[in-house]
Amino acid sequence: MLQSLNRSVRYLSTSIGSRLYCSNTNQTTKNNTNASGVNDNQQTHFGFKTVNKEDKESMVKDVFDSVSSSYDLMNDVMSMGIHRLWKDELINTLNPTPGSHLLDVAGGTGDISFRFLDKIKTSPNYFPNINKSNNGGGEVLKSSSLPSSATVFDINQSMLNEGKKRGLNKGYTDQSDPSIDWVQGNSEQLPFKDNTFNCYTVSFGIRNCTNIDQVLREAYRVLKPGGRFLCLEFSQVPNPLLRFAYDQYSFNVIPIMGQLISGDRDSYSYLVESIRKFPDQETFVQMIQDAGFKQVTYKNLTFGICSIHSGFKL
Ligand code: SAM
Repeated sequence: MLQSLNRSVRYLSTSIGSRLYCSNTNQTTKNNTNASGVNDNQQTHFGFKTVNKEDKESMVKDVFDSVSSSYDLMNDVMSMGIHRLWKDELINTLNPTPGSHLLDVAGGTGDISFRFLDKIKTSPNYFPNINKSNNGGGEVLKSSSLPSSATVFDINQSMLNEGKKRGLNKGYTDQSDPSIDWVQGNSEQLPFKDNTFNCYTVSFGIRNCTNIDQVLREAYRVLKPGGRFLCLEFSQVPNPLLRFAYDQYSFNVIPIMGQLISGDRDSYSYLVESIRKFPDQETFVQMIQDAGFKQVTYKNLTFGICSIHSGFKL
């Protein structure tokens, strides 16, 4: 009885989702799609649409140009604030200590990096580097701890600009301790030397990238030996009943909220569709291992709506 209900719900969920939002799905699945969702030919996904690989980057850029000013507000509204808890969990999992250098890829407006810097400051081993001239010429009471930094890296300058404003309000700059800097570029070609960072995070960003395997290889390259990769990303909800409810909310409510708050329904339809195209938890584990990472694990958050994947460069 329960099994047949599950089957019906799965069918309904797939067919409603497909009919309303998925006009190109059949076309997509006919192509020889690999595990990362990238077709072997020159095409890829843009949400449920099939597009040329070379076009996707600029299409994603347009989406985030359009939503950057309302991005933080929309995150709170769409997830009812839960995205904050998921991001806290990411940083609690990383548990950084002073002396850590984070590369926060697809870092957008800095949510992960700010949490990273805040966490460093709560460490019992954190002693800020107090400049004597800022200390009334008085003596430095404790020797400073090793400097720590976060580099927010994103393809979209308007997202970084929003983040920089937030950083200034929080007192984080490239001169603060710990410090933050903002770098624009593509996660598939990082402008950093091999073995540079201790930690690499990517939060709700990797599914927007065209060549996910290449992003993972670059993550591996720039991490120091012993460094940790952590990815927070929307994932696949295993329970069919919950998935059905989640699909209804995602496909029917979020685009309308997008329209009301940012005046942009299409961008939020894309964001929802891109979640469904992202590989499931186990497939993504395999992709991270294929890039060279060891001890790859994941944990589901909120019934698998999101998951945190972790791996080490050993
Ligand atoms: N990490 C932030 C967070 O958790 O709030 C922002 C996530 S936002 C949903 C996705 C970000 O990925 C956007 O800022 C977008 O510009 C960025 N992005 C998309 N494709 C990218 C790429 N190829 N390289 C770097 N950043 C990219």
